[in-house]
Amino acid sequence: MGFQVAIDGPAGAGKSTIAKLVAKKKNFIYVDTGAMYRAVALFLLRNNIKAEDADAVAAACLNADITINYENGEQIVLLNGENVNSLIRTEEVGSMASAGSANPHVRAHLLNLQLKLAEQYDVVMDGRDIGTCILPNAEVKIFLTASSHVRANRRYLELKAKGIACDLNEIEEDIKKRDFQDMTRKHSPLRQADDAVLVDSSQMSIDDVVACLIQLI
Ligand code: C5P
Repeated sequence: MGFQVAIDGPAGAGKSTIAKLVAKKKNFIYVDTGAMYRAVALFLLRNNIKAEDADAVAAACLNADITINYENGEQIVLLNGENVNSLIRTEEVGSMASAGSANPHVRAHLLNLQLKLAEQYDVVMDGRDIGTCILPNAEVKIFLTASSHVRANRRYLELKAKGIACDLNEIEEDIKKRDFQDMTRKHSPLRQADDAVLVDSSQMSIDDVVACLIQLI
């Protein structure tokens, strides 16, 4: 087992930005588990499988092989051998990932891959259930959050910078819906582990949050 840093929190809290920077500073690998759920979601969307159809989702897991590669320190997600990194960042895939990840077969399907990476490397792993379920003995556990308004605003600015038209209120509603779905599901709901440190980044810069985590590590 390597050194384990677990970062959990709601959508848009900045987990991946922070995790990537911390991993680089510590020379750990960054494991983005949300990307794995997104790759499964892409498979479901491509095959017109509804998240509510639990049996079809379970069957789909048998045909959706998810693996991870690293190229220049960047995590590449392969769905049946295809690099899908550029296809999984849409809202459509994100909300399908949230719906599909409530299915225990999907979670079980990705568990081994996540554990194997933590066995082989020193990791900063982010997601929703890393400190509570996947790496319960992680040396450092963080629950990274921010107000839904701040999270929506960050996402809004990100989309605007890319020239994508969007509505701030709509983004905040989507974020709240996804949080609710992730926190109230039966299997591995999003919650702060008892031994996790709560970091609210609403009033913090990226550098502040990174420094705080490095100190904790
Ligand atoms: O973090 P990201 O937005 O990429 O995650 C997409 C969805 O995948 C989340 O809304 C959540 O439902 C699911 N997920 C999960 N467990 C994880 C990581 C992500 O259920 N460890």
